[in-house]
Amino acid sequence: MLIVMKMDATPSEIDRVVEEIEGSGLKAHPIPGAQRTAIGITGNLGALEGGRFTEMSGVLEVIRVSHPYKLVSKEFKGEDTVFKVGDVPVGGSNFVVIAGPCSVESYEQTSAIARRVQAAGAQLLRGGAYKPRTSPYSFQGLGVEGLEILARVREETGMPVVTEATDIDVLDAVAEYGDMIQIGARNMQNFTLLKRAGRTGKPILLKRGMAATITELLLAAEYVLDQGNPNVLLCERGVRTFADHTRNTLDLSAIPAVQNISHLPIIADPSHGTGVRRKVLPMAMASVAAGANGLMIEVHDEPERALSDGKQALPPDQFDHLMDEVRRLAAVMDRQLPVLVQR
Ligand code: PEP
Ligand code: MN
Repeated sequence: MLIVMKMDATPSEIDRVVEEIEGSGLKAHPIPGAQRTAIGITGNLGALEGGRFTEMSGVLEVIRVSHPYKLVSKEFKGEDTVFKVGDVPVGGSNFVVIAGPCSVESYEQTSAIARRVQAAGAQLLRGGAYKPRTSPYSFQGLGVEGLEILARVREETGMPVVTEATDIDVLDAVAEYGDMIQIGARNMQNFTLLKRAGRTGKPILLKRGMAATITELLLAAEYVLDQGNPNVLLCERGVRTFADHTRNTLDLSAIPAVQNISHLPIIADPSHGTGVRRKVLPMAMASVAAGANGLMIEVHDEPERALSDGKQALPPDQFDHLMDEVRRLAAVMDRQLPVLVQR
């Protein structure tokens, strides 16, 4: 349910509506807009009578929202969500590029890659310290040592860091060192992790599960927003299909589909979305053309030696080329990338 306040509603009228909602054991989410404030209500609305709000002073209308997703929907908030990760704006017309290795392997590797991707125009550095691997015998990540490396490289480059929390045991450490917490595809419906990650107050990068519908992706994001954390960046990273020319099938139609329903920004990850180095550039371009709010790209200085996902990692010179191409297309799509100062 959504309570739309009148344009001239006073703060105390808004407070009274919030008190009325909370008095019924429900959660109130005031959403200030350019024109007016709306107040979203979540919780078990079964017995709630919308009529009790219509007569309250300052209330314009009460809307019953029929979709399962509420806080993430455009009905609740018409304006695009824009937030900052460190000093980097995400969402709206900003085009954000998150680049770096799949895994943090060493200080030297992370630092060398960070410098190259930053020089090419990436704004956020990615790198996993905790890795969700299909095989228990594959490299599992450096753990806290990896987080320390990321923090040191952030210190040296100024690039805010995006890194994955694979479970609630590592969440506090990831939240302490990272500027944005990644929830990976395998954890998209780990509801305890989503709630706890939401409560850290850090921006969340939420990747689509490999067999998740758009509704399920948006409901996963809803868990985070329901914790009072509106700063969620969605990521299309490919879904499992019968196709065997790629690792996953990058579902580009998810981008306009999400943008049609939600105010949250959505980026594409053509690295995991294809799993094949040669296909990263064309699918990155296609993602920009589909209206993505940014890209996540895996880059490695020595892909053949990478401890994870080497086959899809771009060497830095190929990432330079990708950024040149993306920059040209992003301009056509009215998406802003920061001006390059040096290469
Ligand atoms: C990753 O970003 O390295 C990763 C593991 O991604 P996903 O969760 O999309 O597989
Ligand atoms: Mn990876």
